[in-house]
Amino acid sequence: MKIPFDNSYFRLPAQMHAAQLPTPVKDPQIIAVNTPLADKLGITLGDDATAVFAGNSIPDGANPLAQAYAGHQFGNWNPQLGDGRAILLGEVVDSDGIRRDIQLKGAGPTPFSRRGDGRAWLGPVMREYLMSEAMYAMGVPTTRALAAVTTGEDVYREEPLPGAIITRVAQSHIRVGTFQFFAARGDLEALQALTDHVIARHYPGADGPAALLDAVIERYARLIARWMGLGFIHGVMNTDNVAIAGETIDYGPCAFIDHFHPDTVFSSIDQYGRYAYSNQPGIGAWNMAQFATALIPLMDDRDQAIEGFTAAVNRFPDVYQSAWLRVFATKLGITNPVAEDVTLINDLLDLMAKDSADFTNVFANIGQLQARDQFLDRSAFDTWEVRRQARASADAETVMAQANPQIIPRNHRIEEAIQAGRHGDMAPFHALLAAVTQPYKLTPETEKYTRAPTMDERVTRTFC
Ligand code: AMP
Ligand code: MG
Ligand code: MG
Repeated sequence: MKIPFDNSYFRLPAQMHAAQLPTPVKDPQIIAVNTPLADKLGITLGDDATAVFAGNSIPDGANPLAQAYAGHQFGNWNPQLGDGRAILLGEVVDSDGIRRDIQLKGAGPTPFSRRGDGRAWLGPVMREYLMSEAMYAMGVPTTRALAAVTTGEDVYREEPLPGAIITRVAQSHIRVGTFQFFAARGDLEALQALTDHVIARHYPGADGPAALLDAVIERYARLIARWMGLGFIHGVMNTDNVAIAGETIDYGPCAFIDHFHPDTVFSSIDQYGRYAYSNQPGIGAWNMAQFATALIPLMDDRDQAIEGFTAAVNRFPDVYQSAWLRVFATKLGITNPVAEDVTLINDLLDLMAKDSADFTNVFANIGQLQARDQFLDRSAFDTWEVRRQARASADAETVMAQANPQIIPRNHRIEEAIQAGRHGDMAPFHALLAAVTQPYKLTPETEKYTRAPTMDERVTRTFC
């Protein structure tokens, strides 16, 4: 296999990473390879592709390493996290001229593993593959899945489960937690090198930490607005899971809402609902405050910087709110959103919550009878629909068709694919993947994926 590596993170100061080779596995088998993505990355797949995606063979030009980072997990500070089971092979510059990390996740222990085994089981690997490729197809900034393999080895998660490795592609794996790691240690050399690297790599227009903070706030607020517009719940918005490039990263216990309620939580470890659907924007602001804090040590006049950074973080709600308005207005066919449309949108969400309407199917069918069918109180919906039509633009149908997916990776379908996969049947996974990567187009084969789960089919808990 030929990968045109150019490894800029490897060239940063040594304390920022640890050289680490993947640990070979017994009997790797390919689950999926994303050939269009491989092409885009300039990768020539060869006979050794399975061995490379398993970590059994290291391609020429790779500099395998684990990255150091810290983070707030559910609000609690953890000074030492780091890649405990992910190994960065290196970077390539893709056909769009954008630098991308290529990382194996589940590739064995690293110096940052602490108690973990460094491995992943098949379920989360399948979930991440489906979710990230669906998000990409819906135009949401995200990491991507280049390949997935089973390892032929068991991992132990209360019971023996089949092991797997996903090859993840990201603009970078630098997180808010990467900045926090060096800020907390007072390592100004690394913090400055990281900041310079991130500006050059992701925000070339920014002329220093203050401008970087503004730019990251802008991208992150827009990202969360996109999540909200799809009923997506990330599930673990810890600062170590906030990618500084503004991509969705770390598809752990994430899920899309079926029947809508703003307090929805799926993650089995989110006991108090910190990362509930409606809390995501507030947590976004909190995470940006942690990022701002980590940048302060770089500033000469710290009192002045604290004032400026506080003002920047305080702008987050406004930046988010206008992104949210644009996202939801577009979903309703409104191309010139005004402040009054906020009420129109919230009124719909209230009706949806009251009647447990299916999030995706309401929006996918706005203006048609199938949307109305999602509601118990049809007359309330009809009254609302009259108000929407008064605001909809002439090309509303086209606008809405591009903004509202027909097919999302519903939790019960993912669960169904995982259970089949555990028993060696990957057909449901491939069928679901084909459907969710064409989210705006219904075919006779994919029609069935629009169906919301029945009461019996509902999967209300996800595990990482
Ligand atoms: P996450 O919850 O995926 O954001 O991971 C939080 C931290 O736990 C990171 O430092 C991971 O590398 C580490 N971690 C999670 N699972 C494992 C595992 N199976 N082995 C080693 N480290 C792990
Ligand atoms: Mg993580
Ligand atoms: Mg995770």
